[in-house]
Amino acid sequence: MDNLEAMSRPDLLQMAPSLYRLRIPGGQAHLLNCYLWVEPDDVTLVDTGWPDSAGLIADALTTLGRRTGDVKRIVLTHFHEDHAGSAAKIATWSDVEVVAGAEDSPYVQGVECGPVPQLTDFERTIRADFDEPPHGPPCRVDRTVRDGDVLGFAGGARVISVPGHTPGSIALYLPAADALLTGDAVAEFHGQVILGVFNTDRSAAIRSLEKLAATRAQIAGFGHGEPVLADASARIAASADPDAR
Ligand SMILES: [Zn+2]
Repeated sequence: MDNLEAMSRPDLLQMAPSLYRLRIPGGQAHLLNCYLWVEPDDVTLVDTGWPDSAGLIADALTTLGRRTGDVKRIVLTHFHEDHAGSAAKIATWSDVEVVAGAEDSPYVQGVECGPVPQLTDFERTIRADFDEPPHGPPCRVDRTVRDGDVLGFAGGARVISVPGHTPGSIALYLPAADALLTGDAVAEFHGQVILGVFNTDRSAAIRSLEKLAATRAQIAGFGHGEPVLADASARIAASADPDAR
């Protein structure tokens, strides 16, 4: 019983006083994460895992002494199923504002079909192909955001537009933690910080990574992989291109 409980306990990592990474198991994705910014009675989720991840996120809130009704905001870094998957479900928990990048908003809402990734040779070794865009269940969007917009948490979370992985991908810079949440613009893979994979526009993705490297953030959390807890922007600037090896 103890073992079972330990196995089902949410895998949370505290990255800064109010910032937690939650590992999302299941699916074929490499070390998938979502993030929680936790203040008293006010929780922001950055991404929501797969369509069946809402229960795990609720368990994570319980572990942190919070309730589902404390979730006030969901920020979706992009429309993909492993990030927007449980947003529609979680948006019913209370009076939640759902935030997404302007160009990805129609894909999140399911009113337009998003583009499929253009795979490189390296990416084909991970996954053969995408037959269709990896949409999650449709979710309403209450606020669409663009580069430079500021959200009311974490000392004024700044939206950074990072097109390339998807047209409307966004990252967040959180001043209160000197932290960057990159979505899939950047990833960590076996100890290396890398350009995110499965992009719809690879050269735009490279420019977006350079934009994130210029933030001088100390810590960074990625859509996939382990976080970087020191010198994050320098690690991103020195990141490897998985197709250049
Ligand atoms: Zn993605």
